[in-house]
Amino acid sequence: MIPIATPQLNQEEIDAVTEVLRSGMIAQGPGVEEFERAFAEYTGSEYAVAVNSGTAALQTALLAHGIGKGDEVITSPFTFIATGNSVLYTGAKPVFADIETETYNIDPADIQEKISPKTRALLPVHLYGHPAEMKAIRELAEDHDLTLIEDACQAHGASYFGKKVGAFGSGTFSFYPTKNMTTGEGGMLTTGDREVAERAKMIRAHGSKQRYLHEMVGYNLRMTDIAAAIGLVQLKKLDGFNTARQKNAGILSEGLKAVDGVRLPVIRNGCTHVFHQYTIRAEKRDELAAFLREREIGTGIHYPIPIHTQPLYRELGYGDSHPEAEKAAEEVLSLPVHPGVSEADLEQIIAAIKDFYK
Ligand SMILES: *Cc1c(COP(=O)(O)O)cnc(C)c1O
Repeated sequence: MIPIATPQLNQEEIDAVTEVLRSGMIAQGPGVEEFERAFAEYTGSEYAVAVNSGTAALQTALLAHGIGKGDEVITSPFTFIATGNSVLYTGAKPVFADIETETYNIDPADIQEKISPKTRALLPVHLYGHPAEMKAIRELAEDHDLTLIEDACQAHGASYFGKKVGAFGSGTFSFYPTKNMTTGEGGMLTTGDREVAERAKMIRAHGSKQRYLHEMVGYNLRMTDIAAAIGLVQLKKLDGFNTARQKNAGILSEGLKAVDGVRLPVIRNGCTHVFHQYTIRAEKRDELAAFLREREIGTGIHYPIPIHTQPLYRELGYGDSHPEAEKAAEEVLSLPVHPGVSEADLEQIIAAIKDFYK
């Protein structure tokens, strides 16, 4: 089976973890600080705060920006559930704006429609590793005095007109094993705002700066030095991983461009796409997925149910419709593109898809 995702780990990560275990300092310590400095530098953000998941990074970012009850946060309905739920955690209300047909990212025109006097923040997602339309989104944030938080959980290293994602507002990253780099579980908040960084550090550690002195409600969202050791090695390899993903995506697009029934992913002008997923729109999507499975090719649907139509959100009273997101949910199919996919695998995937539509 060619898997849809697989973490790229070798002796270097094993050695780094072993060293931490031997040191006896295994929870949050100097390794986490080193990882934060390296990640801040990589993204071009002034500060980075490590936490124990991408979800925790989102929650921490929203709370550190003071978002809570009575506030509305505009985001995409076509993303992993964590994007919407992190807003719910704060007591604020996620308000969904529909997506663009081509990039699957939130549509700035629809954001504009959804801005109300209660809107406090915009939370675009750089879905599949392709940056959202940050020029228009940043202008909307500036014009309406809104906080900008990026869900960059799928876009480590992606850039928009030369600037890395996560550096436009406050950024949030995930290091889950399927992502472009991993720490097992883990997350990172990036920001240029010193106060947000300070508050985030308190939120992840029970609201305290000084041990046993608690100034606010916080949580235990800390990353371990074990995870940070993996992250430091993975970060060094990230550009290489992304180059491999881009090369694989190029081969897939070249091989599939003439296939009727398939719409290929696009790369917008000025954008670097890091292909967390290589996602096509496919006619007879479910049959194609079953056909590929029979040919030992793993695929994924990201995502089959838009957030606003999830049972939880229906119960919360969301009855709105976002036709582009709903259509995408029926048509998208992600193909293996990660650095572990070989050229022979790619040929096999291309041949199988051609066979299916023949
Ligand atoms: C993975 C992901 C998250 C959540 O990250 P976890 O580390 O799994 O908590 C949030 N948003 C998006 C878009 C993601 O892909």
